[in-house]
Amino acid sequence: MSNCINNVLIIGGGFSGMSAAIELSKAGVAVDLVEIDPNWRADGAGITLGGATLRTFVQLGIIDKFLAVGCGNAGLEIHAPNGMHLAHIPAPPLREGLPGAGAVMRPALAKILAEKTRTTNTNVRLGTTFESITDLGDSVEVSFTDGTTKQYDLVVGADGVYSKVRETVFPDADAPKYIGQGVWRAVLPRLPGVDNTMMWVSQHIKVGVNPMSETQMYMFVTENREQNDFREPATFITTLRELMAGFSAPMVKELADMLDEDSLIHYRPLERVMMPAPWYKGRVLLIGDTVHATTPHLASGACIGIEDALVLAEEIAAKPTLNDALEGFQARRYERCKMVVENSGRLAQIEIEGGDKEEHTDIMRRSAIALAQPI
Ligand SMILES: Cc1cc2nc3c(=O)[nH]c(=O)nc-3n(C[C@H](O)[C@H](O)[C@H](O)COP(=O)(O)OP(=O)(O)OC[C@H]3O[C@@H](n4cnc5c(N)ncnc54)[C@H](O)[C@@H]3O)c2cc1C
Repeated sequence: MSNCINNVLIIGGGFSGMSAAIELSKAGVAVDLVEIDPNWRADGAGITLGGATLRTFVQLGIIDKFLAVGCGNAGLEIHAPNGMHLAHIPAPPLREGLPGAGAVMRPALAKILAEKTRTTNTNVRLGTTFESITDLGDSVEVSFTDGTTKQYDLVVGADGVYSKVRETVFPDADAPKYIGQGVWRAVLPRLPGVDNTMMWVSQHIKVGVNPMSETQMYMFVTENREQNDFREPATFITTLRELMAGFSAPMVKELADMLDEDSLIHYRPLERVMMPAPWYKGRVLLIGDTVHATTPHLASGACIGIEDALVLAEEIAAKPTLNDALEGFQARRYERCKMVVENSGRLAQIEIEGGDKEEHTDIMRRSAIALAQPI
């Protein structure tokens, strides 16, 4: 297979960067990946994966590993605060033999992807980042914090929502914007009856659980909050219980009672980024959260970042020039990613304003149908 580039530098070893390394390496491109974290850690509780994400796992060759440590499910059950069942949003499998959706501990997924990356020819350098990026026209020269310098045919910025690559190459790009809502997440022992994603939705707060393995599930609770301020960890359990106090559903009460010091509680203020096209300048391309960081209302941020990686490798392998490949990439990715960011943003707005629940359910349903389309 002949590619329109010989080598690439990927900056950032999150889900998007690792997926790009795996796929570009598979296509025969020489890949260097630099990750700033010397320990290549992924913090956080669980991550929800839709059918479109599981489809990318097949392509990446990690689906069996995911099924061994994660958990599949068949869709979403929506309930009123008192526990009354309101709607089932099915998650039909996108491939025979796959679950329709699923979830896994975030560090477990990061480990699977890191191990897969290590099986490729990717040269991974941890605790390293770039110092300067100079586009020379027929190559890009990058100097690194370890004192080395190298030239590449393409540089991929995958360093996340607070991207330094974006800041360097697109200095006029908007900074991430806080949306007025945060999300709490906790890891709990899996309760009997939690087989699908379950949500209880009040006027302003959403409580949910998702099974992540035979024995674990993760809980999420949204909180509307004007300021993006520091939350004192010593108050986490009390704050979460206060937020859940308005729900009389027996399972929500049980969840609140289960919280303790071992529940790995995280709070994350929600921010978004949606850069206008093009997402590349010369020989530098941005992918994943770096360019389209969505709020998690459709649980599809990781999905679209990984899809970016798959599409990039396909375009690089199929097109005669890098410019054609980048144009092809942009055409295939822009509308789909914008749909996820904008629909997630609208869901957040409805939740914050206590708006129309039918519109909320309808957006979830329409987005699921759109995400199931081929990329
Ligand atoms: C609260 C919350 C819940 C979410 N839940 C879901 C969900 O259920 N399902 C879902 O699909 N998505 C979810 N998402 C979105 C998902 O987490 C992200 O879209 C995804 O992790 C983005 O991956 P990424 O690789 O693009 O960026 P990141 O995960 O941010 O990875 C960036 C990587 O680059 C590294 N890095 C940073 N700076 C530099 C630098 N200067 N040099 C080198 N390396 C650098 C970082 O250490 C990191 O490893 C959620 C997001 C939030 C905030």
